[in-house]
Amino acid sequence: MGENKLVLLPSPAVGHIITMVEMGKLLFRRHSDTSAAHFSITILLPGPASAPAVDACINSVEASGLDIEFRRLPRVDPPTDNDGPEDFTSLLMQKLMPHVKYAVADIQRLSAAPVAALIVDFYATGALDFTRELGVPCYVYFTTSAAFLALMLYLPTLHENFPMEFEEMEEAVHIPGVCPILPLSMPAPFMSKKSGRYTCFVHHGRRFCELDGIIINTFAELQPETLRAVEKGLCVPGRWMPPVFPVGTVLASHVDGGGASNGRLRRHECLAWLDEQPAGSVVFLCFGSRGSFEAVQVAEMAKGLERSGHRFLWALRVASLKEAELVMRQPEEPSRLEEVLPKGFTERTKGRGMVLVSWAPQADILAHLAVRGFVTHCGWNSCLESLWFGVPMLGWPLYAEQHLNAVVMAEDMGVALRLEVEREKGNWVGAEELERGVGKLMGEGEEGRRVRAKAKEMMAASRRAGEEGGSSFVTMKKLLVELLTKRAP
Ligand code: UDP
Repeated sequence: MGENKLVLLPSPAVGHIITMVEMGKLLFRRHSDTSAAHFSITILLPGPASAPAVDACINSVEASGLDIEFRRLPRVDPPTDNDGPEDFTSLLMQKLMPHVKYAVADIQRLSAAPVAALIVDFYATGALDFTRELGVPCYVYFTTSAAFLALMLYLPTLHENFPMEFEEMEEAVHIPGVCPILPLSMPAPFMSKKSGRYTCFVHHGRRFCELDGIIINTFAELQPETLRAVEKGLCVPGRWMPPVFPVGTVLASHVDGGGASNGRLRRHECLAWLDEQPAGSVVFLCFGSRGSFEAVQVAEMAKGLERSGHRFLWALRVASLKEAELVMRQPEEPSRLEEVLPKGFTERTKGRGMVLVSWAPQADILAHLAVRGFVTHCGWNSCLESLWFGVPMLGWPLYAEQHLNAVVMAEDMGVALRLEVEREKGNWVGAEELERGVGKLMGEGEEGRRVRAKAKEMMAASRRAGEEGGSSFVTMKKLLVELLTKRAP
């Protein structure tokens, strides 16, 4: 087959970069099992996006000896006419396109053979404007749930048929292959149709039909009906539907045995605390890289957790306070955390609860036998990690597409329960509601048992999918054959 070269383009969010890099590593491994022909990957990094987790991910690739190189794209002036983070990313990726085109053409010129494919983030469909011209097939790597993929594909149709705001719709929204979604569970950026946050999704959803394929971080057994509807083209009536490749679960490399748990790094103190708790007794609360709460909500959460009577490990970020302000510096100088927690809370929950104000080693925590349930914001990486370790969830969605993920995890996948989240009050959850939800998740009632059994089933399925002969393994091979034999028309 000669030289095989792939180019990957993530968008600059930490979660998007890491999973794209890991997907590249998986492609590399599968290729080595399949063919001895030379194979290399170039990952284009948009701007100086830097975070400890991204740096660690890049370093791990550089140390691995895999033929994966990084190339930083030149800096462009950030967009200023955006309404929110989603259209900011979309506009930024569009501004970068001339540089992406130059980089792909340059790689093509320097290597002996044409680039086999360009795989881009879902915010970067602008690449389609030049890939045909360069003779390079273009794929999207979709970093979140199949339900959100179905919605993005269906959005142009919904947009034409229902011009009113989702909030004004009296009935649930019907997306092919997805359970009915109440208007208030639609993704946060879709709540105002006039905003650039919404229109950028209509735009990219429409362009998905021009792609050569969509690679997605899920596995066939987790969302079978949704994937079937998407593959059959039910979400794009009257238009051509590109092939879909579910290749998940793609996890960050530290998740499965590469992190603190393998002894390379100092073990986090919360893991020692978990060692002292009985098996299957702790509820873990963590809300992604951006989830933070106002002080009044924090006090309410503390009340709910205390009243639940369950052991808890709580990764907490307070909106108005910096991490440094929450850490106790001197015994005589209490941290400001005590100001937001109810009086006496720390004393009363001593031994059965731990509050963490630093970055939590989430994957190691979910892997720990003491953990029985996970209260999550329903970011897709968190959902996949939780299922990888067979931990059932209680959804408390906050931003992006998390409200949709929460519904489908409960209704379609059966791996989560949901909290009654008062969205119009800034995703407020009262103490009683948290107490009720945690009680159900952790308890021996019918609902708790059901999600616990389903999460265990999906743990086995997610691991099997990636093994030789498993659904994602086979799909990844199919994808590779297609990537290495196909050229854009
Ligand atoms: N994460 C972590 N510790 C934290 C918060 C987050 O390790 O205190 C990790 C988590 O394991 C996951 C990622 O950060 O891999 C969050 O990604 P997700 O898609 O769930 O949410 P986002 O941060 O993109 O909203």
